[in-house]
Amino acid sequence: MTKTILFGGLYHETHTFLSHETGMAEFEDGGINIGQAALDRNRGNGSPAAGFIDYAEKADWRILPTVQMAAQPAGKVTDEVVDFFLGHFLAGLDRHIGEIDGIYLVLHGAMVSQSSDDVEGLIMTTIRGRLHAAGRGNLPVAAVLDLHGNISQAMVDSATVLRAYRENPHTDAYESAVATAALLDRALDLPGIKPLHRSTKYVISPVGVGSANEPMKSVLAAARLIEASDPDILTINVMAGYAYSDIPDCGFSLSIVTKGATDTAEKHLDVLVGVLEANVAAGYPHEDDLATALGKADALPPGSGPILLIEPADNIGGGTPGDATGLLAPLLETGRSNILAALADREAVAQCFAAGVGQTVTLMIGGKTDAHHGEPIRLKGTIEHLSDGVFELENPKSHMASMGGTSIRMGRCAVLVNAQAKILLSERKTAPMDLGQYHSQGLRPEDATYVVVKAAVSHRSAYEPIQRAAFYVDSPGLCTSDLRRLPYSKLGDKVIRCHDCYPGRVAKP
Ligand SMILES: [Zn+2]
Repeated sequence: MTKTILFGGLYHETHTFLSHETGMAEFEDGGINIGQAALDRNRGNGSPAAGFIDYAEKADWRILPTVQMAAQPAGKVTDEVVDFFLGHFLAGLDRHIGEIDGIYLVLHGAMVSQSSDDVEGLIMTTIRGRLHAAGRGNLPVAAVLDLHGNISQAMVDSATVLRAYRENPHTDAYESAVATAALLDRALDLPGIKPLHRSTKYVISPVGVGSANEPMKSVLAAARLIEASDPDILTINVMAGYAYSDIPDCGFSLSIVTKGATDTAEKHLDVLVGVLEANVAAGYPHEDDLATALGKADALPPGSGPILLIEPADNIGGGTPGDATGLLAPLLETGRSNILAALADREAVAQCFAAGVGQTVTLMIGGKTDAHHGEPIRLKGTIEHLSDGVFELENPKSHMASMGGTSIRMGRCAVLVNAQAKILLSERKTAPMDLGQYHSQGLRPEDATYVVVKAAVSHRSAYEPIQRAAFYVDSPGLCTSDLRRLPYSKLGDKVIRCHDCYPGRVAKP
């Protein structure tokens, strides 16, 4: 018999130390899709929502779409946004509560609002409460999550199925959404499925949680072994957590969805925590200062391809403004040339459009959003290219697709060129997860000597194939890898560590 599934999504990774809040305007920018638009605008775009739709249509489910919305990682989400989502979602739930067989949600897991440290927990408990009140308390509720989610017990207690991405960069967001739908499908016919959760004390910065590196690599491998050996275990989520949310549930956690005995699943969780603890020191890699990184670059044997100067402190995929100058400014001061960098700077783009292609201008670029990401750089250059900043991902499995599909809007863009550097200026911050960002603007990172990369891990699938070498550079910014610099107040007994806490250990990002 055809199953009827209520569908909705609310996606945001919230950096609570950033002063700019994420409101309706930012979600309108990222996409607010109500009713049928939640299906029409996501079908085939490589996003988690597309994964759900594909599975549902193959399974001949009847989908009841409510609302699906997403915004780029940034500061705290306004209550208006959460109320808007819940208003539309709960209206759909109330209208159809007697006819649905299950619920499917696309969430992130690390969303914080003005008045809630645990928005996903709030959503799940609200839904479960409505279901109980209507006498449908056992209805399966499934959610696909980002691997960077900070998972709460409240969220787990109200869910039936939670299934997170397993790759970082998130090349498997679509597949994870399909797998979540398959698990929901099983839960529709199999009562007794439940998730169990284990938080840990470890808060690890984004550079330390690439899935190809320790500790993620070993914990993920151990999780796959357990899944293969115990048929009761339907999935295991290795959640790296998101370090820049100052909330009690911040940090690395593990969860298991099981149809078997709770104590057996708890023993599996014990094993996984042991694997994490044996490898966690590698999650705090060393970063060089710029002079040291350039010295190492100068000592490289001859080779082709760009040297990546990675700037995790302004990791756009982690929420920061994408206009930090703490790496670019001193790099320009060294006198080095053939530098490629991108900055989000709406004002500078407007100045370039006002001047026109071919004109030479002197602009103050970057460092304008807040006091944490450096000062504006005075740069004289020629405007080489202007565009509307729309591009299609070259790699449809880019980490970027997990955030909103394969068609990317950078806002209007300008390319400013001088003897030292080519600078891509965009109205919207754009995480460096796909080379189409540059290629679409007539720029070739392959031919640069230095590329400034505002990322931690998410750039790797795009840039590793072209890079000559990559150096992580410590610079000012609120996505710093040294978490001791951030004014946490809600972490309780969680541990904040960095590379220096493990003397004698040498770990590379
Ligand atoms: Zn993520």
